[in-house]
Amino acid sequence: MKKLALHWQILIGMLAGVIFGLAAVKLDFNQFVIDWIKPFGTIFINLLKLIAIPLIVASLIKGISDLKDISKLSAMGGRTIGIYIMTTVVAISLGLLIVNIFKPGHLVNEETRTEMMDKFGGDAAGKIADAEKQKGQGPLQPLVDMVPDNIFGAATSNGNMLQVIFFVIFFGVGMILIPEEQARPVKAFFDGTNEVILKLIDLIMLGAPYGVFALLAALVVELPSVDLFVALLGYAACVAGGLLLLIGGFYPTVMKIFTKRSYSFFFKGISPAQLLAFSTSSSAATLPVTMERVEEHLGVDEEVASFVLPIGATINMDGTALYQGVAAVFIAQTFGMGLDLGAQLGIILTATLASIGSAAVPGAGMVMLVIVLGQAGIPEVGLALIFAIDRPLDMLRTVANVTSDATVSMLVAKSVGLLGEPEVKNWDDNYPPK
Ligand code: ASP
Repeated sequence: MKKLALHWQILIGMLAGVIFGLAAVKLDFNQFVIDWIKPFGTIFINLLKLIAIPLIVASLIKGISDLKDISKLSAMGGRTIGIYIMTTVVAISLGLLIVNIFKPGHLVNEETRTEMMDKFGGDAAGKIADAEKQKGQGPLQPLVDMVPDNIFGAATSNGNMLQVIFFVIFFGVGMILIPEEQARPVKAFFDGTNEVILKLIDLIMLGAPYGVFALLAALVVELPSVDLFVALLGYAACVAGGLLLLIGGFYPTVMKIFTKRSYSFFFKGISPAQLLAFSTSSSAATLPVTMERVEEHLGVDEEVASFVLPIGATINMDGTALYQGVAAVFIAQTFGMGLDLGAQLGIILTATLASIGSAAVPGAGMVMLVIVLGQAGIPEVGLALIFAIDRPLDMLRTVANVTSDATVSMLVAKSVGLLGEPEVKNWDDNYPPK
């Protein structure tokens, strides 16, 4: 019997999870889901995160040493960062356009605002305190943070991804500069390790439909009460509408124009990573799958994917940036504050930086939003207004983040002549991997 394509398997798992979660709420067996189903979702995410650092190390070392030439690396680096920043600015500008046209903040009346502030004020204070820690630092601190003083220390936390990337690029450059003869055994070791890790991703993905089932069932059970959502519908529609325009319009169109690949090719290739991004709300946890899909199904050479994607997962967050722009203006609107053009341009700048600084984990974009609000003079306590609906929007913005990384990896690959044919031509028939 023909195996169902992976994205369908995952989608069915997600739907079944939502239905099961709703049934649990209705029939009152929430605790069962939390005790006996949710842990499998956590295990699934842990497995994905577990291989993120080894994957970055092995594939980036392999990728860079394959380049054999440092000038290629710097050309790729410049383009990657340049395109990442451009897509982010497009995303926030789109968000600001939408929120200024529809003005969702005007739908929230005084009474609802007070109610939401009372209910979520405490949660918001926690995020504000987290952001405080990041604020009181000098302008060059992010640069300093990129250079670890101990690589084993850096590799102990997935939050230090950029430090690990820095070390690995440095190491790869060293490998290019020594005689090939001496670099060969090191390269052979990492090439082999890389193959092993790619196989581990295949194995983990066999559990993906069950993993997403558990994640979504738990999510539904733990969702906060729905009654306050109505006032937030306008805001949520603005964020979701903007994100969907990016995911369904902007990225595939840019991809098509520059790489001449079709929409269906793109979505067939990347959809499993998108569905995982949605289920996990974390670009870091999705990274191993994004890398595999982009290399094996979208034809991006490993030398490019291993460089562009880990960097993208840490710094390129278009969905987060769009959300931060919309949320900042929405909060200002509900407080009756007008924001002139200068203030909105300021938001473009700070949201670009804040999205770069956001960690690739659930809810990180909201912590950095505090900084955007602070810079624009918008009351930070306003965070309480958007708390109730943040998780579903986080899921969607993570899809945008991952789709953007994949698109940019195709553009960069095309620009350096490393966009080839996918390894797995008819992958629907090829799953699960033998
Ligand atoms: N959850 C997002 C990500 O991992 C970050 C955020 O916007 O909160 O990409």
